[in-house]
Amino acid sequence: MDYQGLLHDAMTAGRAVSGRGRVADYIPALAGADPAAFGMALVTVDGEFHGVGEVDRPFSVQSVSKVFTLALALAHGGDHVWRGVGREPSGNPFNSLVQLENERGIPRNPFINAGALVVTDRLLGLTGDAAGTVLDFLRAESGNPFLATEPATAASEAEHGHRNAALAHFIASHGNLENEVEAVLEHYYAHCAIEASCRDLARAGLFLAQHGMRAGGGRLLSRSDAKRVNAVMLTCGTYDAAGEFAYRVGLPGKSGVGGGVLAVMPGRGTICAWSPGLDPAGNSVAAIAALDAFTTASGLSVF
Ligand code: GLN
Repeated sequence: MDYQGLLHDAMTAGRAVSGRGRVADYIPALAGADPAAFGMALVTVDGEFHGVGEVDRPFSVQSVSKVFTLALALAHGGDHVWRGVGREPSGNPFNSLVQLENERGIPRNPFINAGALVVTDRLLGLTGDAAGTVLDFLRAESGNPFLATEPATAASEAEHGHRNAALAHFIASHGNLENEVEAVLEHYYAHCAIEASCRDLARAGLFLAQHGMRAGGGRLLSRSDAKRVNAVMLTCGTYDAAGEFAYRVGLPGKSGVGGGVLAVMPGRGTICAWSPGLDPAGNSVAAIAALDAFTTASGLSVF
């Protein structure tokens, strides 16, 4: 497989549409991102690496972190997380409040904000440091000890976080948080504000392509939990555009409003694409176009 050639063509397809996206500005610290930036990294289970564009430029991982919080909660024995969060697509925007009221404080899935707050809460209960656990794991798996939370982004999110605070309080009002709302929000903002590159995230997600085995050997998740996390990524990882993502890309994927998308080719490897311009659902226009081009040309989807 000519991965390098495929990535190159995928980047061309992504760059052709990057002007159609809009950088997230509801978190002011993200508003300054360069909409023309683009990177794409591919790591295989045999240890091959390929990259194009700004593959080593760090960006705000935002909701891509949610796949790691879920995996780490399960890895720490947090199966009870499924009592407080569902696993159905939401069909609503990632920060929607309305569904949470109808469903009595049990978020639809772990990847919308409400669900991620519940998972962060459980990880905090299990480890005493949810954001630190995510950061340590990302550092270990990526082999990059310099990964860190960008404090200005976390502070900016907290300052403009009325909606997330409303979600967290509403969940708490239904008795679905174990920890104080303020602590849960602080850890949530801190793991969303971690900065990492496409190379870092593709490496860190490799356990998802290896049926739960970590990059350096050793098991993070059972085979079935790895299957389950991938399944929830496919059905819920790109919010109310998950159907469109499955249709176009055909891989489990998780996006973030920093413009990153981490996709998994089970048994084969991971790909992370990044470009800050977003579509109205909050997913990177160019990253998805590039992943679409990659799986279409290579045939490497799960279907
Ligand atoms: N931290 C962001 C928020 O809470 C994450 C959203 C996202 O990346 N979709 O709004």
